[in-house]
Amino acid sequence: MRLVLVGGGHAHLIVLEALAKRREAALDVTLVTPSRWQYYSGMLPGWIMGRYDNGDCRVDVRPLASQAGVRLILDRVAAMDADRNLLCLGDGSHLEYDLLSLDTGSETNVEWLASLSERLLTVKPIEQFCELWRKVFNQLAALRSSRIVVVGGGAAGAELSIAVKTALSAADGECSVTLVTGNSGLLSGHNPMVQRHMQSALEAAGITILHERAAGVEDGVLLPGGELVKADFVIAATGARPSAFLARSRLGLSDNGFVAVDSFHRSVSHHNVFAAGDVSARLDNATTRSGVHAVRAGPILAHNLIAAAKDRPLRPYRARQRSLYLLVSGPDKAILSWGGLGAVGRWAWCWKDRIDRNFIKRFRQG
Ligand SMILES: Cc1cc2nc3c(=O)[nH]c(=O)nc-3n(C[C@H](O)[C@H](O)[C@H](O)COP(=O)(O)OP(=O)(O)OC[C@H]3O[C@@H](n4cnc5c(N)ncnc54)[C@H](O)[C@@H]3O)c2cc1C
Repeated sequence: MRLVLVGGGHAHLIVLEALAKRREAALDVTLVTPSRWQYYSGMLPGWIMGRYDNGDCRVDVRPLASQAGVRLILDRVAAMDADRNLLCLGDGSHLEYDLLSLDTGSETNVEWLASLSERLLTVKPIEQFCELWRKVFNQLAALRSSRIVVVGGGAAGAELSIAVKTALSAADGECSVTLVTGNSGLLSGHNPMVQRHMQSALEAAGITILHERAAGVEDGVLLPGGELVKADFVIAATGARPSAFLARSRLGLSDNGFVAVDSFHRSVSHHNVFAAGDVSARLDNATTRSGVHAVRAGPILAHNLIAAAKDRPLRPYRARQRSLYLLVSGPDKAILSWGGLGAVGRWAWCWKDRIDRNFIKRFRQG
C-alpha cells in the first residue's frame, strides 16, 4: 500500500520516528516536503536573540526518512485531487497514493498587509523567514535608527517583538518596535495574568503597543484613525490561513478552509486521507493551532495510519483541557501559561530551553 506523507511538520516527525522503530513491510512510504530542514518555531525568538544557532533549532528530515525506510521527495504539493488519489507536485510531476497524511502547517494571513510588498516579512514559512531575517537584520543594524512594526497580538507577535527589539538593541544604533495587536488585544487566548505579564515585559523592553487593526501601505501601516506608523520592515504574525492547494482538493473543509477531520484525524470526506497539526480542523472538538497539539497528535496519527492500512481500529486524539505554554518575554526570561495560571521568571526560560532542546535532540541522529 502506498502511503504518502505531505509536509515534514511536527506530527510527521513522530510518524517517521514510529516507522523507524517498527518498519511496516506492507507500507511503501514517501514523504513530500520542500526542505530537508524542519524548523522548530518555539525556538525562533531565541534564535533571533542569538541564543541559538541554526543547528540548535532545526531537524534534518533526511536521516529520519532514511532510517524509517521512507522515500524523500524535496518538493511541495501544488495541487491535489482527493477523488482520484492524486497529488501534483511543484515540478509538475504526479504522485498517486492509497493512503495520504497531511501535516503541512499553515500560512500567514496577510490579507491587510499585502501592499507593503518588499517591506513585509511573514513569519511562515519559518525557513523563509529565517533566511530573510538575516538579510533584514544586517540592513537594519547598518542604519543609525530603524523602525519595525510587528502585526499580530498572539504569542508569536509578542515574542517576536521582544526578540527583534533585543537583537537590534544589541547592535549599535536606535531602534523602535511597535506591536499592533488588532482588536482582540494581546494574547487573547491566554489568561489575564499572562496577558499582564506580557504587557509589562513589552513595556519594559520599550515596545509601543497599539490595540488597533493595521492595514499595510507602501511605507508602513495605517491605523483606522488615519495615523501612519512608518516602518522599515513589517513582520506579520497575523494568524493562520490554509494553504492554497486545499481549496480545490475536493477534500471536505472547515468554514475557514482547513481540512475537516474527525476525532481520529481522518478526513470527514475521504477516509483514506488523514491530517494533523495546523492544516487540520477538528469538527467534533476545536483545538487551537499550536505546535503542542501537532506534537501530541503525532503518536495517534502514526497509529491510525498503520491501522488504516491494515483495516484495524483507529484511536481518537483527545486534546488535554489545558496545555502548558512557555512564552519568551525577554533575554533569558519566559512566562508560564497554564489554564488560569501565569508566572514569569528566568526559571521559566530554563524550563522552556530544556523542553525545546530535548525536542530537537529526540530527532537528531548519532
Ligand atoms: C514565532 C512562533 C513561535 C511559536 N511558538 C510556539 C510555542 O512555543 N508552542 C506552540 O505550541 N506553538 C508555537 N507556535 C505555533 C507553531 O509554530 C505551529 O502551531 C506549529 O508549527 C504547527 O505544526 P505543524 O506540524 O502543523 O506544521 P509546521 O511545523 O508548520 O510544518 C509544516 C511542514 O509542511 C511543509 N509544507 C508546507 N506546505 C507544503 C506543501 N504544499 N507541500 C509539502 N510540504 C509542505 C513545511 O515546509 C513544513 O515542513 C509558534 C509559532 C510561531 C510563528
